Amino acid sequence: MLGSLRVGGVVDKRRLIALLGVLLIGGFLATSLLGYFVARRSMHQSIVATELPLTSDNIYSEIQHDLLRPIFVSSMMANDTFLRDWVLAGEKDATQITRYLNEIKTRYGAFTSFFISERTRNYYHANGILKTVREDEPRDVWYFRVRQLTEPYEINVDPDMAHQDAMTIFINYRVFGYDQQYIGVAGVGLTVSAMRQLINNYQQKYGRIVYFVDKAGNIVFSGNDSGVTEESLMHREGMKEIATQVLSAKRGDYQYEYKGHTHLSNVRFIPDLNWYLVVEKVEDEALTGIRQTLYTNLAISLLVSLLILAAATYTVNSFQRRLELMATTDKLTGLANRQAYDLLMAQAMKDTQRTGEALSLALFDIDNFKTVNDRFGHLAGDHVITTVGELAKSSLRASDIVCRWGGEEYIVLLSKCSESDALHLAEKMRVTIAQATITHEDKAIQTTASFGIAQYRPGDTHDTLLSRADHALYAAKDAGRNRVVVG
Ligand code: GH3
Ligand code: MG
Ligand code: MG
Repeated sequence: MLGSLRVGGVVDKRRLIALLGVLLIGGFLATSLLGYFVARRSMHQSIVATELPLTSDNIYSEIQHDLLRPIFVSSMMANDTFLRDWVLAGEKDATQITRYLNEIKTRYGAFTSFFISERTRNYYHANGILKTVREDEPRDVWYFRVRQLTEPYEINVDPDMAHQDAMTIFINYRVFGYDQQYIGVAGVGLTVSAMRQLINNYQQKYGRIVYFVDKAGNIVFSGNDSGVTEESLMHREGMKEIATQVLSAKRGDYQYEYKGHTHLSNVRFIPDLNWYLVVEKVEDEALTGIRQTLYTNLAISLLVSLLILAAATYTVNSFQRRLELMATTDKLTGLANRQAYDLLMAQAMKDTQRTGEALSLALFDIDNFKTVNDRFGHLAGDHVITTVGELAKSSLRASDIVCRWGGEEYIVLLSKCSESDALHLAEKMRVTIAQATITHEDKAIQTTASFGIAQYRPGDTHDTLLSRADHALYAAKDAGRNRVVVG
């Protein structure tokens, strides 16, 4: 019914839903992406400003903690009167120094303890004389370096020959006689594996890459599975371009691209070790959580958008149906109203003009309705108006359309119906109404109606046709009511 009304509605509705969809999805997309970028920036900031420096500080303080004790023990050895007296007395009994070194090693839990004499070049350790250091032996280079040292001690990492070449951090302390003459080097060593363990813990726990670099840029050692396979910073992709800058600063934050990933790097120089400590984080890995959140957000947003759109479509559709119904239906009787009649009648006239089939109108009005209102009240009047409409409808074919014309007046559209057929149908309606007893609140109401009918004639407009029916209705009223007159 009422096709033309609906077409405009569909276009507007689609436009509304599309606009709503664009707004919703656009809005959700904007907030999700904004959230993602804000989270990404703050994560970047927190990695660079907090996480990496904190790891670096922690590792640094652990290293210092681990190193301080051996440095202290080594300094004690260098100032020990027994050691110095024994050396100055000519290093006579090796068992004495061996016992001493063993005592130091076990008492302080050192990995190794040693003394190298300048006079004899003997390397003493907890189990005796290891060897004699020689200037032409590459493994002894360290001794000749310490000999020339201006500082009281150095920290050096080397394989320890006394312990199957295990990587060891040696504290090499210079020892002087009572006249400040240089007499050798004493000290203890601690195993690198403890430090490596510490670094592995940090790497695993916080997903960081930790490695040490010496002043020349050589990568001295790194945690297990750190992926740092290069020998030097100068060979590390992305890093080699900034290596000189990194090595010339005491401390700094850097960012570089390594094999398609962004590495955020915190570098600090550790004077005790004479090394740089490098702590890195792969930014892309840190972002996976945030990215996951973005995808979840987008999925939820899409789902919510679709649900809202579905709900909106449903609501708009049902409102549209209600509006259409309201626009074309009379509220009291549920019959088609005048707007609906106009549209239907225009279509029916067109059909008749095209096919030549008959078309008739029946206009009818309840007789003396004022007295119904007066005697039984307005609500009873309403009930009569509704019931008369139903009675008329029940006397007609399904294709005939009864409309409320206004007040207690009705118009019936009788398509494919000649004047005589219309007369017959109107008579049927009149009799049905006249014979009916309408009850309202236990009161029986009798009523009649007068009918004016007219058949469409070629050349008729709606006005001329209606006017003939109207005149016929007047004639029926004039003639005494409760009758049908053909116009
Ligand atoms: P006639 O036989 O000449 O038609 O006499 P009548 O009393 O029916 O006269 P008329 O058609 O002029 O009166 C219509 C009355 O119907 C006037 C109005 O108060 C009443 N009326 C119009 N619409 C409604 C309605 O919706 N409900 C009720 N209860 N009364 C209505
Ligand atoms: Mg009337
Ligand atoms: Mg009237």
